[in-house]
Amino acid sequence: MRVTMVGTGYVGLVSGACFSEFGHSVICVDKDASKIEALRRGEIPIFEPGLDKLVAENVAAGRLSFSTELADSVRGADAVFIAVGTPSRRGDGHADLTYVYAAAEEIALALDNYAVVVTKSTVPVGTGAEVERRIRALRPDLAFDVASNPEFLREGSAIEDFRRPDRVVVGTESDKARAVMRQLYRPLFLLETPFVFTSRETSELIKYAANAFLATKITFINEMADLCEKVGGDVQDVARGIGLDGRIGKKFLHAGPGFGGSCFPKDTLALVRTARDAGSPSRIVESVVAVNDARKIAMADRVIAAAGGDLAGKTVGVLGVTFKPNTDDMRDAPSLDILPRLIAAGATVRAYDPEGMKAAAALIPGVTWVTGAYDTMADADVLVIITEWNQFRALDLSRMKRLMKVPVVVDLRNIYRPDEMAEAGFSYHSIGRAPVQ
Ligand code: NAD
Repeated sequence: MRVTMVGTGYVGLVSGACFSEFGHSVICVDKDASKIEALRRGEIPIFEPGLDKLVAENVAAGRLSFSTELADSVRGADAVFIAVGTPSRRGDGHADLTYVYAAAEEIALALDNYAVVVTKSTVPVGTGAEVERRIRALRPDLAFDVASNPEFLREGSAIEDFRRPDRVVVGTESDKARAVMRQLYRPLFLLETPFVFTSRETSELIKYAANAFLATKITFINEMADLCEKVGGDVQDVARGIGLDGRIGKKFLHAGPGFGGSCFPKDTLALVRTARDAGSPSRIVESVVAVNDARKIAMADRVIAAAGGDLAGKTVGVLGVTFKPNTDDMRDAPSLDILPRLIAAGATVRAYDPEGMKAAAALIPGVTWVTGAYDTMADADVLVIITEWNQFRALDLSRMKRLMKVPVVVDLRNIYRPDEMAEAGFSYHSIGRAPVQ
């Protein structure tokens, strides 16, 4: 089949590359000429493990190409995916659909045969219907369908998630569109991946419900962590103790600094707006948003408290700034709330991240970016672990202690054991566990 992917970001590029690997002929389109030029040179504009190899192989096989010309790329396509960004609209938290509608209208003007226009972007209920209305208004005689096919991949393991998803959700009432979608995902049918065929509106809602549920799970365990700290419990054991219950499940029960990233913050907010507008407010999700926002800010206070209540003239080492490991994505990362507060409190911040420093440097002024984990610690009064990259999990504790001025570690990801840190002579503060002094 011929596939056009409009939007070549995290989702568009991974989906496009994976569809080409399924054997389809894929053109990935983006307005950002520098992205397309880089891809044509064989450079991957984002960091995603395995993506460089996957792209190179499929380009070499002639199944994957890149273009800035939407109109040329759409002609003759069986399916045109919209995978552009849907950020929070400034002011009200609604999903900003400007890019989605702009892409839909460009697609409408360019199509010359029946195609399924598929929204892969995360879009609020009713967007598919509006996309259809807009295309129809521009091209009253065109044969087309608009389907919803939300994406559930996670940055950092995006390729494996796309190749072996827990499920594929397709929202359309059209048999013809359903047949095209089945054909596109044929290799997954053969793997017996569950498919949820439903209405467009339900499909749109499934994506938000999934993200809001996961965000709720994280926020729940974060509140349990706070309670553990007050009453002397251990949140790791609470998470294991409840997670082994099959009805609850182990995943998304890691207490930490609050969720961030390109999806949960904006999608929970958008769901809150949708629910309010529909006259069916979601008080749970509203609380999740409020609790999480407050939590990210409160993390800076933990660091200040661990450093004795005052950061003026002190040095803070920071390990990790991306919202999670294995990505360079800084969107809504907790570090964006934490680091400026440390700097405002008078600290010199020395930070390192394996992939995120370039993006972070533009977003957080005043940080000294260094070239490795140990460089953050030179003369530091306190070290903060914000992102749990693998390379931070087994640091040489005695070397750390020699480098730091004061051996205080605030571990916002619980990647070290309190007993080993105590033994190594650190004052160690983690999440939902008793501190060791
Ligand atoms: P992104 O910002 O990385 O990429 C979007 C791309 O679309 C950009 O490169 C931009 O230049 C391009 N673009 C915008 N308008 C265009 C147009 N008219 N024509 C061509 N290109 C255009 O975004 P992303 O992270 O890939 O997310 C895309 C969508 O997928 C969002 O709705 C997001 O919520 C959803 N999603 C993201 C993830 C994730 O982990 N990043 C996971 C699931 C779903």
